[in-house]
Amino acid sequence: MSDYGHELRFGSFLTPSVHDPDQVVALAELTEAAGLDLVTFQDHPYNAEFLDTWTLLSWVAARTERLRISGNVLSLPLRPPAVLARAAASLDRLSHGRFELGLGAGAFWDGIEGMGARRLTAGQGVAALREAIDVLRGVWDDTATGPLRLDGEYYPVPGMQRGPKPAHDIDIWLGAYQPKMLALTGQKANGWLPTLEYLRSPDRVTANRLIDEAAVAAGREPREIRRLLNLFTVDVSSRSRGFLQGPVEQWVDQLLPLVLEEGFSTFLIGRDDPRLIQTLGQEIAPALREAVAKERNGGEVGTGPVRTTVALAERHPGLDYEALPPSLAARSVEPGDQEYERVRHTYSWHGSPALVIRPQNAAEVVDAVSYARTQDVPLSVRSGGHGISGRSTNDGGVVIDMSRMNKVEVLDRATRRVRLEPGARWGDVAQTLAPYGLAMSSGDYGDVGVGGLATTAGVGYLARRHGLTIDHVVAAEIVTADGRLLRVDDEHHPELFWAVRGAGGNFGVITALELEAYEVDKVVYAQLVADATDTAGLLRRWGQLVEDAPRELTSFLSLFPGRRGNPPAAQVTLVYAGDDVEAAQSALSPFMEIGPILDQQAQLVPYPAIVAPPGNQHRGQGLRDTRSGLLHHVTPQAADLMENMIQSGDVMIMQLRSVGGAVNDVARDATAYPHREQNFSVLAATVPDRRPQLDKLWAELYPYLDGLYLSFESDTNPARLLDAWPEPTLGRLRAIKASYDPDNVFNRNFPIPPAEPLG
Ligand SMILES: Cc1cc2nc3c(=O)[nH]c(=O)nc-3n(C[C@H](O)[C@H](O)[C@H](O)COP(=O)(O)OP(=O)(O)OC[C@H]3O[C@@H](n4cnc5c(N)ncnc54)[C@H](O)[C@@H]3O)c2cc1C
Repeated sequence: MSDYGHELRFGSFLTPSVHDPDQVVALAELTEAAGLDLVTFQDHPYNAEFLDTWTLLSWVAARTERLRISGNVLSLPLRPPAVLARAAASLDRLSHGRFELGLGAGAFWDGIEGMGARRLTAGQGVAALREAIDVLRGVWDDTATGPLRLDGEYYPVPGMQRGPKPAHDIDIWLGAYQPKMLALTGQKANGWLPTLEYLRSPDRVTANRLIDEAAVAAGREPREIRRLLNLFTVDVSSRSRGFLQGPVEQWVDQLLPLVLEEGFSTFLIGRDDPRLIQTLGQEIAPALREAVAKERNGGEVGTGPVRTTVALAERHPGLDYEALPPSLAARSVEPGDQEYERVRHTYSWHGSPALVIRPQNAAEVVDAVSYARTQDVPLSVRSGGHGISGRSTNDGGVVIDMSRMNKVEVLDRATRRVRLEPGARWGDVAQTLAPYGLAMSSGDYGDVGVGGLATTAGVGYLARRHGLTIDHVVAAEIVTADGRLLRVDDEHHPELFWAVRGAGGNFGVITALELEAYEVDKVVYAQLVADATDTAGLLRRWGQLVEDAPRELTSFLSLFPGRRGNPPAAQVTLVYAGDDVEAAQSALSPFMEIGPILDQQAQLVPYPAIVAPPGNQHRGQGLRDTRSGLLHHVTPQAADLMENMIQSGDVMIMQLRSVGGAVNDVARDATAYPHREQNFSVLAATVPDRRPQLDKLWAELYPYLDGLYLSFESDTNPARLLDAWPEPTLGRLRAIKASYDPDNVFNRNFPIPPAEPLG
């Protein structure tokens, strides 16, 4: 018998008495306030003296912020698994990943039978529970295709839609005592949840052994199963020397062997006693943690996350996983982990990284960069995962995924100063700023991340009125290749601050940005669909109208090839940055002349409505072969070549976005985005097998282009660096690269070679 090395958790096990519901909820809130980790409730649906446990769990989840919540244990016969799976995933999503599933085969069969469920023998109960676990995991599995179908004797599932996927991998803990249940725990569960008073010490030893043996026989590690323990006959005020009946020090002495010798790591107090809950959180838990840490440090017990044998077998040989600091290991995902499918790809790229690290603060980013530097594998940095140019996933390398650093704060409404963490999405930024009457133009897609967009430019729906996103960045916090966390602005590391605004991905990991937002309330949003048979004529007319329009107006135009005998179509989005409907109308109405209009609509809407995040799961579904260029004007020659492109059938989509206006008020050398004279950004995208055709067509347009926007370019040809950063910009960037990243650690997004040392 031994310590499995799990981090310690403490919590309460409350009676859901119907007589004083407020008291039950208050004890749950106290559990959180006392610093405990989880609150659990008995579940006896046949007992009219009790509140319904599921309803209580939902209520408590809404009233707490940090606590994990679980039934202790839910009565499976009265909570059929297909519905339970959906309910659990829903509650887990609503509580942002705080739900765990304590489950039992059923007890008090008279009550269960009285409510219409079938009475089962002990053996049947175990078989039913086994089936139920398969149903639960099957419903939650979003990597499987097709409906869930399971042949079961107790819980057959002839065919049901899977989902929803929970917010985190919900643990299943079984209340088990008999050998068959213990074996099932070892084979399939994530935790064993007995009550101390029902098991004498030798029985606990035997039970743990049975679980371990069953785990090993099923190809699992015993450590994959957390051991939890309910404690009922406990007291801190008693002076008796009985087990858990005395003062705090006595508790620590008595619990220590349960951790170190019997492997228990979660203790749940089954007394509805506020004083005891408080003492557990404030005195016993810290003291026991300290005592256990002291013992473990002397020994060799691993305290990192528990990984299955299957997951360990999928580790990449090129990476030293053991060298990862434990704090980061706890937040990382490896191949074989259940979450891996959700974090391996990006919107446009497929990937199979060896490790995805998800730091929660800047200090952890420093650790992540330092660790990655010791490993001879690719390093990608990811925020929102929408990179087209930036390869924010890789094969066999490390990804530093910033999605958990996603705060959006208004620092000072008067100066309109806002602070954005890189993992925030622009849709969320818009939502958070709107109640303050503020906005920050980003792009057309609310799912795009702050980190990638605000380090390259940010061509948004308000660009002609308010400029690029980077034009409003006033400070950045960045972890550089040598592991320093720097705050950069006009006065501190000004060259790096300049470089971050246009070539950010080359210089480090941005951990926060401060921007000056602007006042925006409602905007007029219009969409036209036009027949683009005369593609070149339509483009010319649109281009001229955009240049003539007041700068309140920004327009994006998407061209789609004709399909199934239909002509090509143009979808034109027009955004008027302001709520003066009359002025908007006169700015918009000339666009009705760009060509035969098939559909149109216009609305006055709050800004967040036009960048609503779609919340897609990233599976590499986006078109990733793109070419980007910038145009001063939509000239007849350029328009003809773009018509060729869309009529060839080899290009799946072309997009033109207006820049100009306020974008061009900024001096060419004010930031590392030097394109301040062009009026349009052009993008063409296709599928991988048409890339050669796209390249041929693009080569014809190339002489008419001046520069590119790197966030829309997937070409990795180094010659294109000069299109992104024509001299003297590139030379300046190379010199800054030589100072801050001489070893070219950050080399996955238009990598800038460090300048050669002089002499
Ligand atoms: C559907 C779609 C719509 C788009 N619309 C627009 C638009 O309207 N306007 C516009 O300007 N752009 C638009 N883009 C392009 C977008 O700006 C870039 O792809 C951007 O890189 C995405 O940011 P991200 O954080 O989601 O990307 P990620 O994939 O997370 O990162 C991309 C690259 O950015 C760098 N990076 C990311 N995070 C950090 C960080 N914290 N520190 C340093 N470097 C970092 C890395 O080099 C990384 O490889 C769009 C892209 C897509 C796919």
